[in-house]
Amino acid sequence: MTHRLLVLGAGYSGLAAARRAHGLARRERADVTVTLVNATPDFVERVRLHQVAAGQDVGVHSLADALDGTGIGLVVGVVEDVDPDARSVTVRGGQGPRTLGYDSLILSLGSSARAGGVPGADDHALAIADLEGARTVAERIAADRPERVAVVGGGLTGVEAATEIAESHPGIAVELVTGGEIVPSAGARGRAHVRRVLHRLGVAVRERARVDAVDARGLVLADGGRLPADLVVWNGGFSPSGLPAAIGLAVDDDGRAVVDASQRSVSHPDVLVAGDAARTAGAAGEPLRMSCAMGLPMGWNAAETVLGGLTGRTPDTAPFGYLGQCVSLGRRDALVQFARADDSPRPFVLTGRPAALVKEYIVAAAYDNARTGGQAAAYLRLVRGVARRHLRRERARAGAVQRREPSAGASRGVSRGDARKGRMTRSASGVDDSRRA
Ligand SMILES: Cc1cc2nc3c(=O)[nH]c(=O)nc-3n(C[C@H](O)[C@H](O)[C@H](O)COP(=O)(O)OP(=O)(O)OC[C@H]3O[C@@H](n4cnc5c(N)ncnc54)[C@H](O)[C@@H]3O)c2cc1C
Repeated sequence: MTHRLLVLGAGYSGLAAARRAHGLARRERADVTVTLVNATPDFVERVRLHQVAAGQDVGVHSLADALDGTGIGLVVGVVEDVDPDARSVTVRGGQGPRTLGYDSLILSLGSSARAGGVPGADDHALAIADLEGARTVAERIAADRPERVAVVGGGLTGVEAATEIAESHPGIAVELVTGGEIVPSAGARGRAHVRRVLHRLGVAVRERARVDAVDARGLVLADGGRLPADLVVWNGGFSPSGLPAAIGLAVDDDGRAVVDASQRSVSHPDVLVAGDAARTAGAAGEPLRMSCAMGLPMGWNAAETVLGGLTGRTPDTAPFGYLGQCVSLGRRDALVQFARADDSPRPFVLTGRPAALVKEYIVAAAYDNARTGGQAAAYLRLVRGVARRHLRRERARAGAVQRREPSAGASRGVSRGDARKGRMTRSASGVDDSRRA
């Protein structure tokens, strides 16, 4: 009997999952139909939304065109409910609600902006975590011609938004405000480069400034000061889709569905979750950052789990390691921060025009790879390879410590488990950065 795979959400991880599942089924002659459900008829390159906010016309592709000739079905509608017991999904589309049955389900509904409960932020700030928000920022800039724009959040997305707006609109005074320091996930050299570019583009940077409230006149800071702004762009992190929690899947404190190394929900193993909505453990045991860089392999991984279950092939379940972070700094500059498998920054960086070209290549390749599945196997091998090497090194290091201090190790209970805790402590900043803001 034909196996029905339903993939919910056609972002990076959902499109990648659908294409990989369809490709594997064809290769392995498995009788599978793949249907993709998405709220809109378009694929949105979220990683370009800061460009959209700055007024550039980029990053939206017809899903019908992307899937043309593949045999993958497309349903455009909003997923309202999933019944894991009945194996059915309720979707509200143009013609009202309809129910779709499935044999396997991959849930990849992504994330949205997280306001963080700061008073006034919902009413007086705009976020660029989705297409509508990014387009609203662009429209407000075009219509109101603001003199001062405050960008809140000094993580990767905030820095990308501030530099893009400043470069595209040199007449606007852009101020970047952050509670800590800018790009905390970068190393010292990378951060210094980001500071130089912000300075060159005329972006004023205010670090260690907590925002207590937002109102019609701008920001109210925790130290009692005010920062006047005609437009506030909020980049306070991402919140995962609320659906996993709503349908009773086990979720972490942030609402991400807790999954095992096969992307299976730990509470409902028949439901697979990938991308921003999933809490997947990385090479150091910490949750993978919400990112397209990890969303793609999670989608491919989920597809391999489904097909492995049908064909009897045992899929690889090694964790994924990081390669680095790419931050655009306008269209002519960028930072490529090379990273260890556990996401801690290496001392090497690439900057300037070459980094901008690398960043543009990676962004374009991300959509292409989701759409075609072209590099899926190679990319999975790469990110698993760096994780495996990392784990081998960590085990060797823990073994060496035990050999050097056998009694101290025994008395303090130094074990592989404690070594893991050590790694998690070192990567604490990575955990802070788990939402790409
Ligand atoms: C400005 C910006 C820049 C970024 N830059 C980078 C970067 O450089 N590198 C990087 O790795 N990451 C970056 N990210 C993060 C990255 O975009 C996300 O981590 C990534 O998109 C997550 O992929 P996903 O498939 O989980 O979710 P998404 O890409 O968000 O896809 C989710 C899909 O589900 C659909 N959906 C949601 N709810 C429903 C529903 N109820 N019914 C039907 N459909 C639904 C949505 O329409 C969407 O198509 C950036 C994000 C932003 C906002």
